[in-house]
Amino acid sequence: MPMRLLRAWRSSLWRLAAVLAVALAVGIPLNAVPLTLALALGACFGWYLYRLARLYRLLGGPRRVPAADGSGLWDEIQNLLRRRQRAAFEDKRRLVRLLREFRNAAAAMPDAVVVLDREHRIRWFNTAAGTLLGLKYPSDIDGPLTNLVRAPRFAEWLHADSVEPLADLAAPVDENVRLNLRLIRYADEQSLLVARDVSQLMRLEQVRRDFVANVSHELRTPLTVVHGYLDMIEPEGMPEYEPILHELRSQSRRMTQIVEDLLTLSRLEAQGELPQERISLRSLLEALRREAQALSQGGHDVTTERLDPRDLLGSTKELHSAFSNLVSNAVRHTPAGGRITLRWERDGDGARLSVVDTGPGIAPQHLPRLTERFYRVSTSRSRESGGTGLGLSIVKHVLQLHQARLEIRSELGVGSTFSCVFGPERLLEPLPLTEPA
Ligand code: ADP
Repeated sequence: MPMRLLRAWRSSLWRLAAVLAVALAVGIPLNAVPLTLALALGACFGWYLYRLARLYRLLGGPRRVPAADGSGLWDEIQNLLRRRQRAAFEDKRRLVRLLREFRNAAAAMPDAVVVLDREHRIRWFNTAAGTLLGLKYPSDIDGPLTNLVRAPRFAEWLHADSVEPLADLAAPVDENVRLNLRLIRYADEQSLLVARDVSQLMRLEQVRRDFVANVSHELRTPLTVVHGYLDMIEPEGMPEYEPILHELRSQSRRMTQIVEDLLTLSRLEAQGELPQERISLRSLLEALRREAQALSQGGHDVTTERLDPRDLLGSTKELHSAFSNLVSNAVRHTPAGGRITLRWERDGDGARLSVVDTGPGIAPQHLPRLTERFYRVSTSRSRESGGTGLGLSIVKHVLQLHQARLEIRSELGVGSTFSCVFGPERLLEPLPLTEPA
């Protein structure tokens, strides 16, 4: 590029030299050379100013810079600018095409998509957002989304800038339409709200829940009858039937327990509000210790540790049942002679209740699936120990209702730790007068 400019300059220099040569040839005296030179330079300067003004006009005008057909410096500059302008136009056209394609793709999505600014005002939305959220174009552009989707739950969730999706929100256009919402931050200033219609899924989920609840309920009465009659039968005089009767009784007990656990799960799934009671950890740990000892019949060394003086806020019945499940698992899965520790301790601002055992431990590949219904590491061992495969599912549901989570750590041959982790909002300072530490 500098070489081309130099070449362009060369022609101007030649012109200057030519003017000087002609001046000398026509006999201009030597002392008039500086004046001639000054005049020639002035003419050059005037010419440059004229070309500069022309370029300026071309660049500022609405039309594209035309191609220059000369070979001088200014023609070079004009052609250079023309090439740059063409490249910029090409880039712009490509970007506009890309943007249009993205918009068309987003507009065609069955999910509602809304672009929001930092104050959650609507910048753009697709057609599905009109159908699912009732947004109208152009009147709703720049309006706050919370003025149009008025559910308090939604406003709370949106202002919290939560990464967790908002499940099962009634659509503003029709409350039979259920939505799942997700907020995705993609720039400092902007976020994308995606709302999916999950009504069909929710209906199927409800059908599944009702089916399980109804079947369990229907099975309960016949099972109670069978169980009752089996208990009444005495195999006196027929010792050969003794083992059969024993097996029948144990299987009917197991079936009854499965039905009870399924009913518990259905109840928990349908549960909205929970009682908010103060649960004294001192009494709870003591009760759990007694239960573990009764279940173990002296086979294990059971200890409790209360390292946090605070109490819990929640449903005494449900939480007790969840912790009992963990204690019962520890006793059932830990061989006699093992140690079981029930520990209540701080966890950041919150607290955790851990059931620690020195049992066989669980291989890492099973850990993520343990809370699935009927998932067992060893089906036969679970059955032998009287398990239903539903205990940890119940624990998970109870904890979810308390905005808490289950954490499982385990090492083969060393033991397992099942911890229920509660946030600070679930903790209460102890009552010193009624319950001295
Ligand atoms: P189950 O009634 O079979 O115990 P759970 O849902 O309570 O069902 O537990 C699921 C599976 O997790 C169990 O079958 C068992 O394999 C494993 N498990 C649970 N607790 C323990 C534990 N403390 N030690 C070893 N394995 C455990």
